[in-house]
Amino acid sequence: MQSLNDKISDRSIQSLRKTAMKTLKLSDSLPVISGYHAHVYFDKTTLEQARNLCQAAGRCFPISVGRIHQKPIGPHPDWSCQLAFKPELFGQLVPWLAFNRQGLVIFIHPDTGNDLGDHSERAIWMGEIKKLDLSKFE
Ligand code: ZN
Repeated sequence: MQSLNDKISDRSIQSLRKTAMKTLKLSDSLPVISGYHAHVYFDKTTLEQARNLCQAAGRCFPISVGRIHQKPIGPHPDWSCQLAFKPELFGQLVPWLAFNRQGLVIFIHPDTGNDLGDHSERAIWMGEIKKLDLSKFE
């Protein structure tokens, strides 16, 4: 029996996407995404849980694990830790985070060089949508 991956060729995906984008009258040109950040949010009560999650992510994937910030930093409203990763890892790391976050809020954004867009309309949230301080990007 064929697997789903065998049936869906890159060409048929491209063809389906072209049709859908035309129907929806959307642009099919995506900006170049050089990488992604997943910002794990936590507070005093979830500090150890977040630290363990970030350390485990760093052991399981070839990613860059940032510092544990016990204060809001940059646009982030809560304490946070940044996981930086290449686009090729998205399909593995993001589901891994979804299955292992255990209630933690995680904010994921692409890096396209457009900070405001990357932190607003292109944001991907797990658990809850928090309000970011976007004033430094405007
Ligand atoms: Zn970021």
